[in-house]
Formats: sequence, C-alpha cells, structure tokens
Amino acid sequence: MQVTRELFNEVMVPNYAPSNIIPVRGAGSRVWDQSNNELIDFAGGIAVNCLGHCHPALVKALTDQAQKLWHLSNVMTNEPALRLAKKLTDATFADQVYFANSGAESNEAALKLARRWALDNHSESKNQIIAFKQGFHGRTFFTVTVGGQAAYSDGFGPKPGAIEHVDYNDLAALSTIMSDNTCAVMIEPLQGEGGLVSPTNDFMKGVRQLCNQHNALLIFDEVQTGVGRLGSLYAYMDLDVTPDIMTTAKALGGGFPIGAMLTTKDIAKSLKAGTHGSTYGGNPLGCAVAEAAFDTVNTPEVLDGVKAKEKLFRAGLDAINLKYDVFSEVRGKGLLLGAVLNSKYQGRARDLMVACANEGLMALIAGANIVRFAPSLIIPDEDIAEGLARFEKAVAGFVNL
Ligand SMILES: *Cc1c(COP(=O)(O)O)cnc(C)c1O
Repeated sequence: MQVTRELFNEVMVPNYAPSNIIPVRGAGSRVWDQSNNELIDFAGGIAVNCLGHCHPALVKALTDQAQKLWHLSNVMTNEPALRLAKKLTDATFADQVYFANSGAESNEAALKLARRWALDNHSESKNQIIAFKQGFHGRTFFTVTVGGQAAYSDGFGPKPGAIEHVDYNDLAALSTIMSDNTCAVMIEPLQGEGGLVSPTNDFMKGVRQLCNQHNALLIFDEVQTGVGRLGSLYAYMDLDVTPDIMTTAKALGGGFPIGAMLTTKDIAKSLKAGTHGSTYGGNPLGCAVAEAAFDTVNTPEVLDGVKAKEKLFRAGLDAINLKYDVFSEVRGKGLLLGAVLNSKYQGRARDLMVACANEGLMALIAGANIVRFAPSLIIPDEDIAEGLARFEKAVAGFVNL
C-alpha cells in the first residue's frame, strides 16, 4: 500500500494537522523520512523520547519482555510492574504507585484520589480543586477542565465542577480563593504547554504552605518535567518543596506509552480495592521498558549531562539571536527550552517550526509565540551543533519571509 500524507486527511479524524513529512526510522537524535531525508530531532516526540530513538537498552528490554509475557490485566500482578514501582518509590518522596497509560490518565487518577481522600478524611464540601491559568494536564474531560485553557474544555457540555483557576506565580490570588473547602491544588512545577514558565521559589514554597494551612493536597503534574527533563530526576527535587501526589508519564517509557501516579501510603489508602482501575495500566511490556529507561536516566552522567547540554543550547540560541534579533528571551530549564519571539514576529512560531522542518530540524511550539525544544537527554553534542546550524538557516529564511 502506498502511504501518503493525503491518506491522513482521508482516514484520520481531523483533530491533528501533522507535518507533510512522514518519518519511517530513527536512531539516537536522527530520524529519516519516506524519501530518506535526514532530520535532527530537537522535539523528542514532545518530551517523550528521553533516550532518543531505538536506544539499545530500551530495544533490549522491549524485545526480551516481548518473548516472555505481554499482558495479564490487574487480576494478577507482574514482576516488571513491581520492580518499576519499587525503583520509583525508592527514588522519590512517594511510598506507593498507581500505573496508567498516559499523562492524562495519571492526572485523572490523582484528581479522583484527592476527591476521595477529602471525602474519607474531611467532608463532602471539601471538594474545590484549584489549578493555574495556561496550565495543561491532559485531555480527559476532568483533566482538561482542570487545565487552564477554557478553549480546550469548552464545547463538550457540562463540565466537572468545583474547579477554579488563578494566575501562575500569583500567591496572593491563590491565597484569596483557598479555604478549608479546598481539596487539592494541581500545578506543573514548570508550565510546559503554557509557555515554559518557571515558578519563583517563594511562590512554590507559598503554595505548599497554603496547602498545609488548609489541609489541601498538593499535586505536582510532572508529566513533562519528570524523568530528568530539567536536570534532576523530578523537578520538585530542585524546589525545596515536596508534593503529596505526583504524576509522571511522557519520558517515563522513553516512547512506550505508560504513566504513573505516586503518593504516600497514608493518602493512597483512599484508593482502596475497586475505587479506580485500568485494563492496561502496569502491563509487563510497558513496565519493562520504563524500568530500563529509568535505570538509564537516573544516573549522574545523564542528569549532569542535561545541565551541560542546556548550556550548549542557550549559547547557540543566544548567538543566533545576536545575529538576527528574533527572540525576546530563551526560557525554560534543562532540556525543556523555549525561544520566545519578540514583538516583530508575534504569532509566527508555527511558521518558524515549518521553516525548521524544511531545513531538516524537528522542533516544537508552545503557543503562538514560542519555539520549544525537548530533545533526547543524551543528544550528542555534535547533533546539538548540527541542529543549531540548521536552526540558524531556518531563522535566516524566516526573518526574510
Ligand atoms: C503532555 C502532558 C499531559 C498529558 O499527557 P498525555 O500522555 O498526552 O495524556 C499532562 N500534563 C502535562 C504537564 C503534560 O505536558
């Protein structure tokens, strides 16, 4: 069968508008399309491919497990799931894990747990969930409503209730709407989709304090920031703040779909047998790959490498900006960086992303004004240099459009 980009419009529902390029193969930070054109990957499958494409340790874990056991359902437990859960809890504040298949599902579990916990330990009226404008937590109806962009949750009928939003980094606004009826505050420790917005230290500490004061749970959505992306295993570890519930997905499986919700033993009690579940969550195939990804990423070499590679990216982007004057700033942390278009180029991030693809570079956007990079955490320095050279060509063409 001849597979073309036109076929997409024929057989796929139109909720996505993918590029005209159809990749067929990848190795490390390079990808080849149907015509064997090579691309450098600064997108990382949206912060998922933490070890690039077809990393040998992941291929081995996948193929070894594929010969043994793929799926059981949660009627029986399995070795890879228990091993992965042990490693996640040993490495974090958490005692216990719930496995899901995506970020949204992990957040859905976190929100349902928070509501049950409040009911079990407090009262029915303690049900308010507070989240932040421009935040992103997934596309199930609960998570998209908790997300801070009404445009994503409007148009689907009545929404889940008792959900409110305040500005990120605005502690006063949070303090004003919080009360003893607040059940949970859900927050990204750096807003990803919302534009690579870092929290201030005082803000994060203040959020923790307000949660303590009102007996509310603090939920960190580390779906995009977790598993080494910002240079520490999880972003909370750099913030002097410990959440009560944390979710992780994207890079957790290094490209295999898996997510997890982590919490303390005390809070976990409220998800007793029968309260929540998933057919595939914690399946042996996914957990085996995630275990290999986790073992590989959770080393000083990889995590320190992220910080070193961030410097290379920032230096390269600053040099390009000095020459072409296109960005007002480069923000983000680790290998989750955003180049913000300055006032001359408002609303044109997508044009620049397309220009990148035409030069053989895969990049991302975050909103209309930011070009985002989320490459492999182990992208070779030569690929960073080559990718930045291609980015410069794209920028040179873009400013002359
Ligand atoms: C991507 C993302 C999600 C949603 O994850 P899916 O796997 O697409 O469901 C949730 N939260 C954050 C912070 C994300 O970046």
